[in-house]
Amino acid sequence: MGHVPDKSSPNTKNAWRVASPAPRRSLECPRCGHHLDGNADAAEARGETRGVCTECALPVEWSKLRADAIAPKWFVEAQHSKYWWPRRLTGTLLRCVRPFHFWSAIDLAIPFSRRGAIVFLIGVAALLHVVAVGQRLAYVGPACLDRFRWKMRNAETESAADIALAIVAPTARFEGSDILSWTRSEVGPGAASEVALRTAARFALIAISPMRREMSFGGAPTAWNPRGPTQITGRAPELFWPDQSDSTIASSIAAVLAPLAMLLLPTSLRRARIRPRHFVRVSLYASVLIVPIVATSLLLPHLGAMYGGSAISFINLYGQPNADAILLASATLFISIWMTAAAGRYLRLPHAAGVGLSCGLIAVLTSMLVLQWRWVM
Ligand SMILES: [Zn+2]
Repeated sequence: MGHVPDKSSPNTKNAWRVASPAPRRSLECPRCGHHLDGNADAAEARGETRGVCTECALPVEWSKLRADAIAPKWFVEAQHSKYWWPRRLTGTLLRCVRPFHFWSAIDLAIPFSRRGAIVFLIGVAALLHVVAVGQRLAYVGPACLDRFRWKMRNAETESAADIALAIVAPTARFEGSDILSWTRSEVGPGAASEVALRTAARFALIAISPMRREMSFGGAPTAWNPRGPTQITGRAPELFWPDQSDSTIASSIAAVLAPLAMLLLPTSLRRARIRPRHFVRVSLYASVLIVPIVATSLLLPHLGAMYGGSAISFINLYGQPNADAILLASATLFISIWMTAAAGRYLRLPHAAGVGLSCGLIAVLTSMLVLQWRWVM
């Protein structure tokens, strides 16, 4: 008697699928990528729940390694978060204020998200815009106060124009009140909404091309505008102080390149072949340091420090605090703290403070040298 297929049983193809175990994901060390399947099986057979990577000595928990790493829901790179991306971006940026907490929350095994990276960089750019607006308001603010103090005509609209342009285009060479009064003379008295519309259009033009130095105002010569078409040149000062850019650029580059300084450290300090994506991630989040660096850089002259001259002494030739030296020292401090947190809490390296301080110093000194070299060339 031949074999009669049983209709009630699942077909053979499915039965085979059920019988064979699902191919197990190969276990890799999240820090160096070394294959750990053999070690995990042997350790679990001995009843051990934790061990170390044989390649880089990262302490691992076998069960945690087998499960998928879960990103905190506030993290900008989180794949399955119930939070919308602006909320995740805000959460991530706010947590950057406490780097040790920030890096403790991020698991080495979380896959890198390119989309999350782009969103984060947009967030950093937005913060830099806020810093620039602050610097511009430090310039137009006193002018606005004076208008009200002297009860000048159009004090409200001119101040509003100054502040509006400072917000949309903080790097502009024009003053909002200038654009407004020239538009007024172009349109003529009475047509307030026409003036508002044309001023807004010009603000948009400046926001699109903030480097623009000249702007023309049309209109045939009339009683209220006897000059006719006019070209005006922006009078507002540059956002950056004279001689400010070198040390600011050096510090900003140093912040982003600091993780790579780890490659120069002796193996005993960095311990392992760290996967490239970890360098990319530490570097990506280190870009947030550009915000305090630029803020400090803009703030120092308001506090009496001065840019220019040698960066070696903290007091310059004129007996004033040397802003370059103070900025480079503060940048080294910010970068060292950030790198200590990343090395200790994220990469879980021993001697994190040593790694952090070395990275800060190497990065700032190298960027300074490169900038000096550019000058010599
Ligand atoms: Zn490892």
